[in-house]
Amino acid sequence: MGDRLLDPRAAAEAVIERAPGPRPEAVSLDDALGRVLAADVESRDDVPGFDNSAMDGFAVRAADTAAAMPAEPALLTLVGESRAGRPYDGTIQPGQAVVISTGAMLPRGADAVLRIEDADQRGMELRASSPLPPGKEVRRAGEDLRGGQTALTAGIRLGPAELGVAASVGVAELPCAIQPRVAVVVTGDELVEPPAPLGPGQIRNTNGHAMRAQAAEAGAVVERVMHVGDDRPATVDALRRALDADVVIATGGVSVGPHDHVRPAMAELGVEQVFSGVALRPGKPTWFGVAHRPAGLVLVFGLPGNPVSAMVTFHLFARPALACMLGTSPRERRSVATMDVDYRKPPGRAHVVRCKLETRDDGWHVSPTKAQGSHVLTSMLNVGALVYLEVERGDVNAGERVEIEIL
Ligand code: AMP
Ligand code: MG
Repeated sequence: MGDRLLDPRAAAEAVIERAPGPRPEAVSLDDALGRVLAADVESRDDVPGFDNSAMDGFAVRAADTAAAMPAEPALLTLVGESRAGRPYDGTIQPGQAVVISTGAMLPRGADAVLRIEDADQRGMELRASSPLPPGKEVRRAGEDLRGGQTALTAGIRLGPAELGVAASVGVAELPCAIQPRVAVVVTGDELVEPPAPLGPGQIRNTNGHAMRAQAAEAGAVVERVMHVGDDRPATVDALRRALDADVVIATGGVSVGPHDHVRPAMAELGVEQVFSGVALRPGKPTWFGVAHRPAGLVLVFGLPGNPVSAMVTFHLFARPALACMLGTSPRERRSVATMDVDYRKPPGRAHVVRCKLETRDDGWHVSPTKAQGSHVLTSMLNVGALVYLEVERGDVNAGERVEIEIL
């Protein structure tokens, strides 16, 4: 793809094409929160497994109550009890009823439940003053899930509800996508780690922390974050170690200045360039390549050093790659919104605009957060959505509909 500026869409596709698919590992339910399911999970049995009562009350034969009315209630005899986990083991005969708790098994012969609030119990005698239709207050076996039915679908992120459903179908471990291992390399002689004081010309390393967090949020395991100065051998050495991971994120030093060593270091390490330079603001110098390892491809990103550019290009290129490796959709959060203000944009490069997101009666609305300079990291605060404006389009007028990606 040479050195011309690539359309960011094509660049993202080039990344996604090369991202390996998910590989499964078994994870116990209580460790699976936030993980991605790697295969469908079927329910072995019906859930619930038996007809049961939706209410505390009395299990009855509906037919026994067919003629009941307040003046002439149906008279039934209580013959036992069905409690949660301790069913009544007989069969209810005509004229009989059984005390039943919520969730307890409906006794054989019974087909309706008289709620305790509607019943008139006198010792072992029960009066029903109105007819109960068959099935009244009864939860049917298999109403939630049928045996053999797919309970959870591959690719979903496991939250509390998914883990509860997994337990309900009798599963103790779930097949989860192995989390991609990420190594981050930040470059720059000027970088200082907080809280150390700043010397002349020094700045704080923000990318190391923001990249780590973005990778973790995207479902990866961050194995290491390294910092190297603007020095060729040190850069080669750090990147060589980083190539143990599945995905490498380098920031800074990716342009063609005299102190930018990332691209030559990649070449020296045999990392094959896929693209270099994207028609994007912020994020023009973005570089992407692959390293061939016996275990498979390593995806290597050289992201610009400017903190906003690094975050935006991580979002546009690295996050979809991690999504593919986990088996989730790389594009699940796209939508459209109304831009509330004018936005100036010459054609030639796509823009990613950091925006506040609001909902109104007519849907999503966006407006840019503060100054959009790629060095203004606080422009990333309170960003609800990124607006993506195509390479060739020009200014946006207030009221226009634009493509967004909800964060
Ligand atoms: P570079 O791409 O190395 O020329 O860096 C572009 C800009 O981003 C420069 O102003 C750098 O000081 C800044 N920068 C690079 N790396 C980081 C980092 N890890 N944290 C904060 N700023 C950075
Ligand atoms: Mg630099």
